[in-house]
Amino acid sequence: MRSIFCAALMPLCGLLAAGCSAETGSTPASALHADPSAFDGERALSEARAFVELGPKVAGTPACMAAAEYIRDRLAGLGLDAAIDDFEEESPAGATRFRNVEGVLRGGGRDWIILGCHYDTKEGIAPGFAGANDSGSGVGVLLELARIICAGGGAGNCSLLFAFFDGEECKLDYGPQDGFHGSRRMARRFSQEGRAGNVRGVIVADMVGDEDLRVALPRNGDRALMLAVLSAAAAEGIRDRFSLARWNTLDDHQAFLDAGMPAVVLIDFTYGSAPGLNDYWHTGADTIDKLSAQSLGMAGRVICRALAHLDAAGPGRRQE
Ligand SMILES: [Zn+2]
Repeated sequence: MRSIFCAALMPLCGLLAAGCSAETGSTPASALHADPSAFDGERALSEARAFVELGPKVAGTPACMAAAEYIRDRLAGLGLDAAIDDFEEESPAGATRFRNVEGVLRGGGRDWIILGCHYDTKEGIAPGFAGANDSGSGVGVLLELARIICAGGGAGNCSLLFAFFDGEECKLDYGPQDGFHGSRRMARRFSQEGRAGNVRGVIVADMVGDEDLRVALPRNGDRALMLAVLSAAAAEGIRDRFSLARWNTLDDHQAFLDAGMPAVVLIDFTYGSAPGLNDYWHTGADTIDKLSAQSLGMAGRVICRALAHLDAAGPGRRQE
């Protein structure tokens, strides 16, 4: 991902106020059987640990392709309809093979909610770099969400797509042929298949395991989704750990925004040795001992609530 600081603030005061209010802290009724309190941060950490222990997952390498199979098998084991979308695209390394992993839980209607994270890891950081927060934390949270939703009875009004993106990390610098390969591929497919209008929301989790969790929602996100996330955080009693960023962040949600789908990314870009620092990011210090089950639990429960809110919301954009 890449952050771009924006000096001018958007008129977000209304959003901030709403996110703090007691009224919006309630979660509406949903057909989705997902109890946020069932989300187990320790289990999410175990999933992240097992995934990180697989080692580096640099896009296009055999290890990354094997990691895709690992995720597919975990999803299938949890009861999802799991598949790998194998595709080739140009990258600075030449023609490169990428693999998105998709786990589907069919819901009652035509609409979709996409929960996403990337699973590839950055190349050239340190020998054996396996990205605990970047990317293991997102993988752990999504797998635990999949578990509790399956255990709770499955999807509700919407079909759920658990999307594990390959090729999020750029090889040289972000551009049309470098980085975000997996998310762009999926957004393109939804558009080409005429399903973009059926996507109620895309929620991406990236770097959500830091012990001192401080999620800042980048400016480039869907307003209603931001509100849903802030309301969910308020309902969890952890609104103080969520804020609106003053910057844009290019992450896997951007491709969906570009294709007209509502999307948001939950990201904590203060992952470091002291509050406010980000000195563990893209360094050899991004190791599993830095991840916190409590933080993964907070992120997972907030996403779970936001998910239930979306599921209960009714068809969105097509009726606007
Ligand atoms: Zn990264």
